[in-house]
Amino acid sequence: MKKIIITIDGWSSTGKSTLAKQLAKALKYLYVDSGAMYRAITLYFLRNHVDWTDKQDVKKALKQINIEFQTNAKTHTSDVYLNGENVEYVIRDMVVAEKVSEVAAIREVREFAVAQQKRMGEPKGIIMDGRDIGTVVFPHAELKIFMTADSSVRVERRFKEMFDKNPNITIEEVKANLEMRDYIDSHREVSPLRPAKNSISLDNTNLTQKEQFQKAMEWADKKITGT
Ligand code: C5P
Repeated sequence: MKKIIITIDGWSSTGKSTLAKQLAKALKYLYVDSGAMYRAITLYFLRNHVDWTDKQDVKKALKQINIEFQTNAKTHTSDVYLNGENVEYVIRDMVVAEKVSEVAAIREVREFAVAQQKRMGEPKGIIMDGRDIGTVVFPHAELKIFMTADSSVRVERRFKEMFDKNPNITIEEVKANLEMRDYIDSHREVSPLRPAKNSISLDNTNLTQKEQFQKAMEWADKKITGT
């Protein structure tokens, strides 16, 4: 069967990774969480006190970074590894979330991540989610989805997710972080977040996970079978 590339971009906490995982499982495609790469780079910068306002420091640091994805036998999705260490859990911390959009706006960081993302898509049969996947990484992808949802719904979803890990977190903190990241992501000079040409918009404010999956599967089927 024909293999395609599916890109899922959109605002923070719109459920991109949930949809991407559902599709990857049904189609037996590789799922790549590009945000995890930016988070892993940010974690490295924080741990190693990299001054990311200094281009030379950034370039030097990027040479020391190796990012890989490996399938987790328990969850059956892929975990991100930073220089051999599984960092899937720690990159979701607020400490990383507070700095990741700043780091992801740096040209050199994006060039580093995008080059690797493009290589991962060469065999096709891939679903990648992020902010610039349909616009920059795979502009020729067969199916491009742009996800949105009401801000209050997004805040609530992310709060629940983060509260399970850290019961001290407040909804105000989560809201402020989402707003800040969305602002930086959509206003940066390099690869700002915006719907790709020919993308299909998916607002899941009032959709269940099953309903959004069914919609996206229909779109994918059409592209795969050419109907
Ligand atoms: O997807 P996630 O929310 O984990 O991404 C974390 C951050 O990484 C985003 O807020 C954004 O700043 C950055 N990112 C990006 N480009 C991508 C994926 C993520 O700039 N393709």
